[in-house]
Amino acid sequence: MLVKDGVATKEQVYTRYPAHELLIKPKAIIECYESIPCNPCSTSCPFGAITIGDDINNLPKVDFDKCTGCGVCVYSCPGLAIMVCEIFENKARFKIPYEFLPYPKENEVWHAVNRKGEVIGDALIEKVTLTKRQDRTVLVQVLVDEILLYDFVTIRRKL
Ligand code: SF4
Ligand code: SF4
Repeated sequence: MLVKDGVATKEQVYTRYPAHELLIKPKAIIECYESIPCNPCSTSCPFGAITIGDDINNLPKVDFDKCTGCGVCVYSCPGLAIMVCEIFENKARFKIPYEFLPYPKENEVWHAVNRKGEVIGDALIEKVTLTKRQDRTVLVQVLVDEILLYDFVTIRRKL
């Protein structure tokens, strides 16, 4: 439970995802559960898909009709609370933020990790993006089995 151990429950996670059929296209999943004065997700979105409103303490909301899954909000969020997700052919493709060294490389297979930090499967690294505007937050595109859709949250290098 979030307030006890910092781990969101499955029920909390589900509230952040769009309807399953919408995930045939990439959509931003925002796991920002606490009211804090923060809004780079909203101001960075080139498509106006994230709104916070007049009170900067409001939780961000995604308009899934406007979201293109571009990933700008993923590396713009200082809390690393956003990822992009889509599903196809029994796989789930995520764009996640990553800030540890060494960075992953394309075609490597890393551990897929859940919100408790547990290894839950494999994650194929498809693409690694780092532009100047990302300020050292790498955008990593990974592929995992669709069964991990609501559990996967990050990657860990295999030793
Ligand atoms: S993924 Fe792109 S379009 Fe979607 S909310 Fe984030 S910045 Fe906006
Ligand atoms: S930028 Fe990140 S931490 Fe800040 S409000 Fe948006 S989702 Fe939450």
